[in-house]
Amino acid sequence: ARKPFISGNWKLNPQTKEEAVQLASEIAASINPSSPDADVALFVPYVFIEAAMEAVGGKLQVGAEGVVPEMKGAFTGAVSASMLKSVGVQWTLAGHSERRVIFGETDEYINGQVLKLMEMGMSCMLCIGESESEFEQNLAGAVCAVQLKKGLAGVPKESMDRICIAYEPVWAIGTGKVATPEIAQAVHAECRRILAAMYDQETADSVRILYGGSVTPESVDVLMAQPDIDGALVGGASLDSSKFGRIINYES
Ligand code: 13P
Repeated sequence: ARKPFISGNWKLNPQTKEEAVQLASEIAASINPSSPDADVALFVPYVFIEAAMEAVGGKLQVGAEGVVPEMKGAFTGAVSASMLKSVGVQWTLAGHSERRVIFGETDEYINGQVLKLMEMGMSCMLCIGESESEFEQNLAGAVCAVQLKKGLAGVPKESMDRICIAYEPVWAIGTGKVATPEIAQAVHAECRRILAAMYDQETADSVRILYGGSVTPESVDVLMAQPDIDGALVGGASLDSSKFGRIINYES
C-alpha cells in the first residue's frame, strides 16, 4: 500500500520569518498522532527553510519550492541541489505550473532539475497538469503523458521511490474550483497507466500521486477516498494552520 502524503506549498508566503516560524510550529502541533498515518511536508521559501525545520522539530519534512539544474557557477539568484542538501532538505518541488507559466520553465529544464535531485540522492515532487482550455478539449491525459515522459526522461526505475507526482490541474489552482473526485481519480488512474507503460506495473503501483488545486478541509476526505489519490498538495489552505491541520488529519 502507498503511504499517504499530505503537503503544503507556501509559494510567496508568509512575509516574515516570525510568521513562518509561527505557522510551521502550529502546523507541526496540529498533527494528530492517531490520525491516518501519512507523510507530511511543507514546501517553503528558501529563506525560511532552516527556521521552519527548527520550528517543526522533525515532526514533518520541510522542503524547497524549487532548485536549478546547475551545481555552481555564474547563475545569480539561483539555489543548487547541493546547497539544499547541505541544510538538510530532502524534498523539492519541480514543474509547478506557476514556474512553468510565470518563470518559463520548460519540460526540458524541469527534467534537468529532476535528474539533478536524483543524482544527489534527494526526492522530487514533480507537478503536472493541464490548463483550462486543454481540460475543455479533453486533453488532460495527453498533457499529463507529455509532462510525465519529458519530466522523468532518464530517471531510472530504481530512483522512482524518490519521486512523487502531483497532479494539479491549472484551472483548479487558487480558483476555489476543486476538481471533482471523479475527474481527479480518472486522471490519477491515467497517470498510473502512463507510468506503467514507461516503467512497469509494480513501479506505477508504488508511486504516490497527489492531487493539488483548491484542496480544503471540506474536499480532502472524499478526494483521499479515491483509490489512486495518495495525497494532497495544498496551496492557500496550507497558510492557515487550523485548515491545514484538518487536511493533515483527514478522515479516511
Ligand atoms: P491552492 O491550494 O491554493 O489551489 O494551490 C494549489 C497549489 O498550487 C499547490 O502547489
